[in-house]
Amino acid sequence: MNKNKLVFANWKMNLHSEDVIMLVKSVVDKINNISGVDVVLAPSFPYLGIVKNLTKNSKISLSAQNVFWEESGPYTGEVSPEMLLDVGCTWTMIGHSERRQHLLETNEMINKKVLSSVSKGLNVVLCVGESYDEKRTDKTFESISDQLHRGLRGVREDLLSQIVIGYEPIWVIGSGEAASVNDIANVHNFISNELKAMFPSANYLPRIVYGGSVNRDNIEQIIKLDNVNGALVGNASMDCDKFCDIVLRVVK
Ligand code: PEP
Repeated sequence: MNKNKLVFANWKMNLHSEDVIMLVKSVVDKINNISGVDVVLAPSFPYLGIVKNLTKNSKISLSAQNVFWEESGPYTGEVSPEMLLDVGCTWTMIGHSERRQHLLETNEMINKKVLSSVSKGLNVVLCVGESYDEKRTDKTFESISDQLHRGLRGVREDLLSQIVIGYEPIWVIGSGEAASVNDIANVHNFISNELKAMFPSANYLPRIVYGGSVNRDNIEQIIKLDNVNGALVGNASMDCDKFCDIVLRVVK
């Protein structure tokens, strides 16, 4: 079972082909042979093929930022797990807070995406996180628990190794300042206990990675916490030096 740390680059709806090519080439040059850490890049859909080609002789994996739950059919604008696998993706993100907020994704939709993706063999980062209001009113654990239970409903225990939980406090994403080490530790411990309670007989539980303004200065504090198995990186992942420094600090 995979116990490696994971560093996941979410480029969101940023970068065009020239930037993608330059960035991926430099990342491959710097960390191609690194071991003990899974590095995953998530470009926008149109650039999946480019990234696949540039990373084909490396250990770097490819992820989509979203997926649909049906195999094929009249779902204009959607992309199925089979299509992602076909272009060389081994991962997809599901349930990022920006999609929950702007595309009105519900936990039910997210659950269908998770079930469909893992059954087809894709690895999934399921994102969960509390809003600022939930944090302020002491509803963080309630909110995270709800997202975990509804997002993972019906997942078979033998498919849990394909799932990673991305804890991303919504109020911290893109803010430039990560959550406090204390808050991160508390929520990761909580998620770990929830997963144990939800899947009592599983012999492998999902890894849990932290996301929200991770950078090369704060990663060392975060990665040494119990139950933090890696990082989801947005802004800092679009700069080769910053991103590779994070990866190198995670394996140190
Ligand atoms: C994200 O949105 O997944 C993320 C981690 O963003 P940032 O690192 O920019 O906060």
